[in-house]
Amino acid sequence: MTDRLLGGVEGGGTKFLAAVARCSGSGAPQILDRFRVATTGSPAEALQPIAEWLAQHELEGLGIATFGPLDLAAGSIRDTPKPGWSGIDIRGDLTAQFDAPPPTAFDTDVNGAALGEWRWGAGRGARVSLYVTVGTGIGGGVIIDGAPLHGLGHPEMGHISVPRHPDDDLRSTCPHHADCLEGLASGPAISSRAGKPADQLGDDDPAWDLETHYLAHGLAEITTVLSPEVIAIGGGVLERTGLFDRVAARLDEVLGGYVETPAVVLPRFGQEAGLMGAVALADRAASGA
Ligand SMILES: [Zn+2]
Repeated sequence: MTDRLLGGVEGGGTKFLAAVARCSGSGAPQILDRFRVATTGSPAEALQPIAEWLAQHELEGLGIATFGPLDLAAGSIRDTPKPGWSGIDIRGDLTAQFDAPPPTAFDTDVNGAALGEWRWGAGRGARVSLYVTVGTGIGGGVIIDGAPLHGLGHPEMGHISVPRHPDDDLRSTCPHHADCLEGLASGPAISSRAGKPADQLGDDDPAWDLETHYLAHGLAEITTVLSPEVIAIGGGVLERTGLFDRVAARLDEVLGGYVETPAVVLPRFGQEAGLMGAVALADRAASGA
């Protein structure tokens, strides 16, 4: 494989990160330059500077991995609680400054991260590889035979229903669902239940028993449907000491030996999972996939 110059954009709730990376062979890409814009202003104030920065480079592919929900065909954001962002044509706005835009892939931040982990990281070689992040929200992306899963739209794994723990009377923090994973196990759900920020809770707080219950049940449901060989699980909440090991052990118990337990691993790219995911999408677009 020859060297490729690729662009990646990770769209988050508070900032957009862009990178230009060189990709050669099967090793992870080397990031050559970065650009960052806060999304505190209007969408145009965030997207236009990035579009101008990207257009200064001779890119062979561009990947955009952003918060959603997304209209994948249109390249835009669907209805979102983030003020001013509903309906924004992110793909169009980010490619508007090129004389001739490079092949461009547009996907969710978690499908991007899942692709990056499959291509160069924790999920390498798997036929079905899952990436789940647990933080302000909960999201999951899945790669099947090298391609991010798309269908009616894209997966929204944070919103699967999970069995309520008998000791839990929390009002779900998800406005759409009374018993979904995100509504009961995201960072804001933990904080709401405890009455204080999750990071102020001790490692032995009972909150982590509930968190283990919900994450293990969520991963078990996803496992029985998608049969992943590898689950990479990360995000701010998983930085809690001991939680990762507890969830992995509990997943095994919940599955009850009926199906094989997937390998549960930390993402190789950690905080960079989103940006490397965007570059992985660019690499796929440059390959004509
Ligand atoms: Zn929900």
